[in-house]
Amino acid sequence: MSGSATPLPETGTAWPELRDQMVERGAGDAKWRDGRTAVYVFNAGPDVEAVQKEAYTLYMSENGLGPAAFPSLAQMEAEVVGMGLSLLHGPDGSVGNITSGGTDSITMAVKAARDHWRSEHPDDARPLNVVAPRSAHPAFDKACSLMDLELRRIAVRSDHLADVAGMEAAIDDATIMLIGSAPSFPYGLIDPIDELGEAAAATGTWLHVDACVGGYIAPFVRMNGAPVPPFDFEIPAVTSMSADLHKYGYCAKGASTVLFRTDAHRQAMVFDFDTWPGGRMITPTLAGTRPGGAISAAWAVMNHLGVEGYRAKHGQVTDARQRIEEGVPALGFEVLGRPLLGIVAFSHPDLDVYAVYRQMYRRGWIAALTTEPPALHLMLSPFHATVVDEYLADLGGACEAVRGGDTTTMGEARYS
Ligand SMILES: *Cc1c(COP(=O)(O)O)cnc(C)c1O
Repeated sequence: MSGSATPLPETGTAWPELRDQMVERGAGDAKWRDGRTAVYVFNAGPDVEAVQKEAYTLYMSENGLGPAAFPSLAQMEAEVVGMGLSLLHGPDGSVGNITSGGTDSITMAVKAARDHWRSEHPDDARPLNVVAPRSAHPAFDKACSLMDLELRRIAVRSDHLADVAGMEAAIDDATIMLIGSAPSFPYGLIDPIDELGEAAAATGTWLHVDACVGGYIAPFVRMNGAPVPPFDFEIPAVTSMSADLHKYGYCAKGASTVLFRTDAHRQAMVFDFDTWPGGRMITPTLAGTRPGGAISAAWAVMNHLGVEGYRAKHGQVTDARQRIEEGVPALGFEVLGRPLLGIVAFSHPDLDVYAVYRQMYRRGWIAALTTEPPALHLMLSPFHATVVDEYLADLGGACEAVRGGDTTTMGEARYS
């Protein structure tokens, strides 16, 4: 549903009327606040939502493009990045920036790796490549397509984790980046970043850890006592990381962090240009204008929650995940691997999980699916801890309906 030409109204409409219209338009959207949506939205509760909103509007008109004009935003960005680095074992000298989202962070990390490689191989014009597990996010394909890089996706192991030996075999002397996910989106499982680190060190390759969905939950889940393996700058070969504030950082949308081990690595990301009539323009990320609200809301939410707040919210997420992991085997499902964070996927040996998905959709549950293998996929929020029993009861009903031959289509399934 992309737009086509529509005339702008000749005369304007008063805001209260427009507001009513907008609220009305949302009536058919996923009712995520009631806890039945486990994709797209992170529901940390009304307290966090209120902080996001007010902090966003305080700096909504300001522009992070102008640090000299808005030192407040520059300082908030530096503090948010600093908190990210300290959570992810950034060593002395590590640096980063806020971007508009995971895709932006990933694109800029790939750009930095490419330009860094080129600066070390100034006379080498060969086509370059990137090596990733098959489970890596499509943002890498988008970045590689933009930059004419070849993305080599290597099949994952039977435990759904990156096959490091296979990836190492795909590295050649035109490989600019090796990728691991912490965790991967489809499986919610953390790749063996330590082994990837060994492969990266042995071949002198830039290692990027995509912690878009894990970076702001995994450190707290570890503090809460779960055996989260090393996945961040703690591993010396990790060169850069992406970690989304607008996912498990519970910040307003439009905010992620891209982090680098050294400023020399980050400098390869920055675009510094002055050969036009407008003077020198330095942009660290893909954006020109950078919405101040996304930065200020991130700063406010992180300071509002603090370590205690995040540990408590993420404890609710992992509690919900554990109870789902414990509940679904009774219905015959098999959880893929051993998830530790907020994503869980489960397949079924003899039921069509896509038919189960449609049944669940009809019951008002909006989630995701995986294809290798076919599985139901949940990305959980703190609020889900309150609806697990309801979810499992509905899942039982959905399985029974599918066993009974009910093949609801998505067309018939109506969110109500
Ligand atoms: C969400 C996600 C991305 C992309 O982030 P956006 O903010 O949606 O652009 C990249 N990698 C992983 C693992 C993700 O979960």
